[in-house]
Amino acid sequence: MDNKTVQLHDLNFSTSISAEKIAERVEQLGVDLNLDYEGKNPIFIAVLNGAFVFTADLVRQFKGNCELSFVKLASYAGTESSGTIATRIGLEAEVRGRHIIITEDIVDTGNTMFHFLQELAELSPASIEIASLLVKPDALQHELDIKYKGFEIPTDFVVGYGLDYNGLGRNLPDIYSLIH
Ligand code: 5GP
Repeated sequence: MDNKTVQLHDLNFSTSISAEKIAERVEQLGVDLNLDYEGKNPIFIAVLNGAFVFTADLVRQFKGNCELSFVKLASYAGTESSGTIATRIGLEAEVRGRHIIITEDIVDTGNTMFHFLQELAELSPASIEIASLLVKPDALQHELDIKYKGFEIPTDFVVGYGLDYNGLGRNLPDIYSLIH
């Protein structure tokens, strides 16, 4: 892949995972999900805003019946996790007794996912698994079992494929990481 750079606000980023590599990996995750959830009519719960691109690609790899719901959780301002989950915009689906697959763009400290998992568990679903396109293992502060993982990446700030830097970059097809 040719290295591309992009400037968003005051920061410069260069390509780290190409759109082709992402597509390939998402397809493989789809194969796993099709095996594990055959006949189970799972509910994918996408964590907005960042997961919208990943979720759109992932659910289209799913062959059986499934449903889709969205939540909004926020723990980020600029390029640093604030550590607190600020907002939660409603979960409309009835999750009791259902198989849930949470879709995330990236798990960084794991704070967001850890708290959301606890909330979700209280609603008595049949099962909960996490699908995260990106995971930063060195930044993780919670024990999280992320069954469907796209890529493990270093603890750098990344944008593209749904991920933004203060509003910009979500539309980029590749993933870019911050140039220091
Ligand atoms: P955590 O709670 O795991 O620290 O952070 C999870 C959320 O922070 C992700 O859903 C994402 O919105 C945001 N986040 C974490 N790392 C990055 C990153 O490198 N780039 C961007 N754009 N957002 C990130």
